[in-house]
Amino acid sequence: MNFENFPGNENIKAELNALEQNRRFPHALILNGSNAQSREALSQLLSKWAVCKSSSKPCSSCIPCQKAEKGVHPDIYFAKGSGKTDSISVEEIRNITRNCSIIANEADTKVFVIKDADKRLGVEALNAFLKTLEEPPQSILFLLLTEDAGILPETVLSRCVVLNLEQISGFDDETLKEAQKILLSLLESTEISLLKNLSALNEKKKAEALLEAMRAILSDALSMTVSEETILSRDLSEKLSEKLTKKKLIGLIETVNRGIYTISRNVSLVLLSTWLCGEFRRILWQK
Ligand SMILES: [Zn+2]
Repeated sequence: MNFENFPGNENIKAELNALEQNRRFPHALILNGSNAQSREALSQLLSKWAVCKSSSKPCSSCIPCQKAEKGVHPDIYFAKGSGKTDSISVEEIRNITRNCSIIANEADTKVFVIKDADKRLGVEALNAFLKTLEEPPQSILFLLLTEDAGILPETVLSRCVVLNLEQISGFDDETLKEAQKILLSLLESTEISLLKNLSALNEKKKAEALLEAMRAILSDALSMTVSEETILSRDLSEKLSEKLTKKKLIGLIETVNRGIYTISRNVSLVLLSTWLCGEFRRILWQK
């Protein structure tokens, strides 16, 4: 992906490049972050990328890219919303769903952008949207922009790839050490120490911080596959990037992301640790 003039952080770039190169680019992405401008900038970059006709996408200079920039490309749709809260009705979701099955006008892919998806999609609209998310027609890209993706139900989150736009801030030494221990145990052949180290997730705030730190280190490891830049734990990230494929690193990051949203729902931390252990092992044993 061509990130020229794009300000976003290196981890996001690495994650997107890895998704693109592995030919498993998702049909639905959640662009999550507190800064509306960053969300929109990434949304525009991805929309252009989806419709661009050049070999280095997005080129920003071909006609489709320019149309996308001006917001007039016929294959890029923005959910309109209505009423005081600008909420998206079930009717509009049905229109989008119908529109999905009609072939694109000019591009190879159709893009549907839902800004403030965490605030504008009510329960009924989300339910109407689920089926399309579950069995999306070919060549569709949904971009859901959120400030707090954790508000969206698990059924939606699990069908999308969440990209977190937040820049990583510092972690205290204790958190970093424990996160490193958990990640190191991923490289062992049995799950005994993984389970033992995951038991550190025994308190909500602590569990959140640990998973955030794990995500940061894993993102660094993924970045190392394209550049030398790391933020947190260079040795460990290097080790992880050597031993694990990009696909596995992405899988691990997605799992940690889901873990973070699960914590915000007050689930039992024992169950969460067991679930994480199972998911990690599943990803690592995949061919
Ligand atoms: Zn272009």
